[in-house]
Amino acid sequence: MKLNIKFNQKRQIWVWLTLLLLVGLIQLITLFPPFIERFYSCAFYKFYAQKLRALLGWIPFSAGDILYFIVGVWGLVWIIKLLKYIFTRNWKLLTKRIILFVKIVLVIYIWFMLGWGLNYHRQGIAEQLNLQVQPYSTEELCTLRDSLAVQLNYWRKQVSSDTTLPTPALKYLYHEAAADYLQSAQQYSFLKYAFPSIKSSLFSPWAKYFGWGGYYNPFTGEAQVRNNLPRILIPFTVLHEIAHQIGYAGEEEANFVGFIVGKTSTHPYVVYSCYSELYKYVFSELLQRNTFPDKSPALDTLVKYDFKQINLFFRREDNNIAPQIMNLYDIYLRVNQQTNGIDSYNQVVGLLIAYQKKYGKI
Ligand SMILES: [Zn+2]
Repeated sequence: MKLNIKFNQKRQIWVWLTLLLLVGLIQLITLFPPFIERFYSCAFYKFYAQKLRALLGWIPFSAGDILYFIVGVWGLVWIIKLLKYIFTRNWKLLTKRIILFVKIVLVIYIWFMLGWGLNYHRQGIAEQLNLQVQPYSTEELCTLRDSLAVQLNYWRKQVSSDTTLPTPALKYLYHEAAADYLQSAQQYSFLKYAFPSIKSSLFSPWAKYFGWGGYYNPFTGEAQVRNNLPRILIPFTVLHEIAHQIGYAGEEEANFVGFIVGKTSTHPYVVYSCYSELYKYVFSELLQRNTFPDKSPALDTLVKYDFKQINLFFRREDNNIAPQIMNLYDIYLRVNQQTNGIDSYNQVVGLLIAYQKKYGKI
C-alpha cells in the first residue's frame, strides 16, 4: 500500500513537471515569430488542421458545438459539486477537485496553443505579401473610403437592380467561399484550403446574446457560421472563418485575408459582401477620429438601403447580455497577443492601406 502511494506521488510529480515544462516551452516559442511562421503556421499547423477537417468536415452538423455543450453541462455539474464540498466543509475533496481543475486547464491551454493558438504569434499575411503596415493619416483613410465607395456602388448594381437583395442558399455560399480560396491559391499558394469544414452554428438561435457572426473551433477545426444573420453578411463571415482555419488567428488578418480572397470572386454577391464589410470598418475608423469630410463619392441609394436594413436588424437584436460577452471576448483577444482587443477587427484598415499603397488600388 505504502509503495503504491509513493508510486502515485512520483507519477503526479512527473505529470506536473511535464505540463509546466510544456507551458514554459510554448511561452518561449512565442518569442520567435519567424520560427513559428516557418515551422508551425506553414508546416505543422497546416498538416494538423487539414487532417482535423478531413476527419470532421463531412459531418453535416457542428461536432464542436456538441463538444462545447457537453463541456458546458459538465462545468455546471462541477461547480455544483464544488459548492457542495464547501457547504459540507469537505476540504480534502475540495482541494483534490481544485488541483484536478488546474491540471485540466493546463492541458486545455497546451492543446489550444499547439492546435491553433501559436498562430497568434506568427509573422502573418503582412510578411507574406511584403506589406509595410504603418500608422495612417485621415487623408489616407478618406482615399480608401472613396475607392471602397466606388466599388460598392459598382458591385451593388452587378448583384441586382431590385431594392431587396437576393438570398442565395447557405450551402451554396459555404461552397462558394471554399471555391474562392482555391482560386486565390493559384496566385498565393499559402491560401490553399483543402477539406472544407464549414457548418451552421447550432447556437445560432441564441447568437444575438453572444454578439458573434461566426467562430472557429480550434479543437475540432470546424468553422461555425451564424445562419440567421442578414444573408449579405454571410459570404464575408465565411471567408473570415476560413482564414482562421488556414492559420490566420488575428482578427484583422482574418478580415484582410477574407477580403483579398472575396474581392476576386466570380460572384458579385460575394464581392459586394466583402466591400460592404470593409467599408464598415473604414467608416467606424473615421467616426473614431471625429473627421468625416463630405467630399466622398455618394453611396448609391440601393447600398444605403442595404446598410439601413442591416442596421435595423441589429437594432432589433439589441440586448444587455451581448456587451458583457463582448467584454469577455475582448479580454480573450488581449491575452492572445491582440493588444487592441475587440478593436483588432478594425486594424484591417492598416493592412488595407498598406495593400493599396503597394498595389495601387483596392
Ligand atoms: Zn474571427
